[in-house]
Amino acid sequence: MVKFMDLKSQLNSIRDEVIPAINHVIENVEFIKGPAVGEFENRFAAYIGAAACIGVANGTDALEIAIESLELPKGSEILVPANSFIASSEAVTRCGHRVVFCDVDDVTYNISLKDVKKRLTSKTRAIIAVHLYGHPCEMDSLCSFAEANGLFIVEDCAQAHGAYYKGLHVGNFGIVSAFSFYPGKNLGAYGDAGGIVTNNANIANKCRMIANHGRIAKYDHEFEGRNSRLDTLQAAVLNVKLKHLALWIERRRKIADVYRNGLHDIGGLILPSEAPGVSHAYHLFVIRTDFRDELASHLKLKGIETGIHYPTALSKLAAYNYLNQGGEDTFCNKSDRELLSLPMGEHLSDEQVLDVVASVRSFFS
Ligand SMILES: *Cc1c(COP(=O)(O)O)cnc(C)c1O
Repeated sequence: MVKFMDLKSQLNSIRDEVIPAINHVIENVEFIKGPAVGEFENRFAAYIGAAACIGVANGTDALEIAIESLELPKGSEILVPANSFIASSEAVTRCGHRVVFCDVDDVTYNISLKDVKKRLTSKTRAIIAVHLYGHPCEMDSLCSFAEANGLFIVEDCAQAHGAYYKGLHVGNFGIVSAFSFYPGKNLGAYGDAGGIVTNNANIANKCRMIANHGRIAKYDHEFEGRNSRLDTLQAAVLNVKLKHLALWIERRRKIADVYRNGLHDIGGLILPSEAPGVSHAYHLFVIRTDFRDELASHLKLKGIETGIHYPTALSKLAAYNYLNQGGEDTFCNKSDRELLSLPMGEHLSDEQVLDVVASVRSFFS
């Protein structure tokens, strides 16, 4: 049996550290804004190499609060890649703006600058740069385009903890960035959790206030915000796991190497690429084939779990019928039936990784 993800095996490897950390929070009744929260915010900002991290309740809130902090005129158009999780676009609409879906590049699977240029209008105010699957977007060209056109870049780093673009951790390129610590992410809590990262002091301050009822001091509310705080129990878990993250990412990268070496010569199978100058964090190892469903069934029979990210392009979801983008002749609208995610994570043994390689090969032979 090769599991797609295995949080139980990860728990077993850190049990001696993580259970005492959780108990400490409970015994000290530090449930809201306990010391572990500030500790995690500082340590995560340092890990990213950014000035500030604001812990929030989940990754979707992180995106929503990040976008709200920009104070864009209502009804602004915001460009979002059509291959992502719905949170990337949902946050835009929730903030009172209009989603405009862009196609993704057929090699990196990240937002296509060529398509961004086509979708630009006088109402466009921002781009959501989703570092999908853990592969950084092409930030040099995206940032110069944004700057030339007065657009903000908000990075959606929910899948990209441990990903670097030209030596700099993702989360440092846009004006503000959102991370998710959903349990299955590269760095995951034991429940919902998220973080906003920024190098802009005003944005950091604004986000911190929005997430905590528009206040800094106890009953001094400068505006109406909301409640989206990082739970202390989750922060305690994240403090333990952050120490292991670099090694876990290294292991993901090794597994990706083994997959690549073992599968690169199969005709009709497209492997993920890693652009020059970037370090892919391999949240997911997504392959493409015309025989996706047949391959998934074959692997299932061999006891190997797979996933699909994502089975339907956002532009084709019922939620976005009103945008009329589902019928466009785009790579996203066509390729969603070819995508298959192989098992990935530090839970996999060398033997299991080779088993996956052999089983994929046996399907194609
Ligand atoms: C997981 C994810 C989110 C949302 O994070 P939650 O913590 O689940 O709210 C946002 N964007 C992308 C690309 C994601 O994968």
